[in-house]
Amino acid sequence: MAGEWLAIDIGLPDKPEVQELIDMTGQPVEYVCFRLYRLWSWAAVHCADGTARMTIPRLSRTCGGDDAFWRAVAAVGWLEIDETAATVAVPGWDRRFSQAAKARREVAERVREHRDRSAENKRLGLHANARETVLKRFGRQCVYCGAKEGQSMMGGRRVSLHVDHVVPIAAGGTNDDENLVPACKVCNLHKGDRRLEETSLDIRFLPEGFEVVVGNDGRVTGVTRPRYQRRGEERTGEHPPPPREAAQPDQAAWAKLRAAWNDGAGQEARRRPWKPLQPPDEAVGRLVEPGWLEEALEAIPRLRACRYFKTWVGLPQFCGKPAFVRKVLDGSYDDVNEPKIGPRGPDDRAPPRVDPSFEAARAATLAREQARREAEHRRLDELAAREAS
Ligand SMILES: [Zn+2]
Repeated sequence: MAGEWLAIDIGLPDKPEVQELIDMTGQPVEYVCFRLYRLWSWAAVHCADGTARMTIPRLSRTCGGDDAFWRAVAAVGWLEIDETAATVAVPGWDRRFSQAAKARREVAERVREHRDRSAENKRLGLHANARETVLKRFGRQCVYCGAKEGQSMMGGRRVSLHVDHVVPIAAGGTNDDENLVPACKVCNLHKGDRRLEETSLDIRFLPEGFEVVVGNDGRVTGVTRPRYQRRGEERTGEHPPPPREAAQPDQAAWAKLRAAWNDGAGQEARRRPWKPLQPPDEAVGRLVEPGWLEEALEAIPRLRACRYFKTWVGLPQFCGKPAFVRKVLDGSYDDVNEPKIGPRGPDDRAPPRVDPSFEAARAATLAREQARREAEHRRLDELAAREAS
């Protein structure tokens, strides 16, 4: 294979084995050394562990020399010929070639992974960087078994992570962030096109703050990071959250509230719309209070005028205290005259001033980075194409 290296002892021509081969075969040193070089380079490409299916006549055709020469190589202990099994072996393979073999295996693995990944992204219609984004978000760890990317497995291979759809596309799943988690090859293949409940898998390894989202039918529909975490609640990140209590939210009311929130609560809500299909716990209780929803729908667009909040109000906070919505409506949070009060609302801030030279430098850096990534992809594509041919 092109681009491969073979480590050869610079003292090879003077080795006793080579001298013995010269004596036994009557061939000059160049002949002997070149035949050996052909043998080892052939073996480096075709032998996984130093053994390959090969007969002496075929070896002579491939590497030159003749029957007598290869039997002499065997006689000095540099080749093992098993004529009944039709194999040849290179003794001391590990010591001699394990570095090259290891490097080759790693390149082959990376090429294969790259190919699988490109094909996977294409098949799923995912953005090219989707895998990287998902892996980063979850700390490069399989959410089902906790295997870390690059960790060694049995057989010398390394863990590679796939992007798994919690709800498979075949079962109506989407490419939304909430539905994408990293899974190792083993878990991913085991899960296949099934819902989690149909497998023995469970989402057990999540970074702190992430939660499993459960649909109304009690089945897992994805994973989300809550924008706000209840105080005093400790998460180890290794155990699934306790099953939610079977509070039955009013779905129609929740749909109305969510739509109004995503559309009307200002810049922050538009940038990070409230995605989970399940309302936050705080909302479940509010939605059944008579009249609350009507007031909430009225209060949401008014949130922008509230200058009392130093940080943006999240939906759970909005639904949290019984009197919160009432106070938004009656202007309790609009107090602009109080000197101790924080900055004006996020929508009112002047746009940041950008230094044009800084912007240009940033654009150049991004372009360079992009070019580097594309070159690496091209290189891996070429390797993949060459390997396939
Ligand atoms: Zn796994």
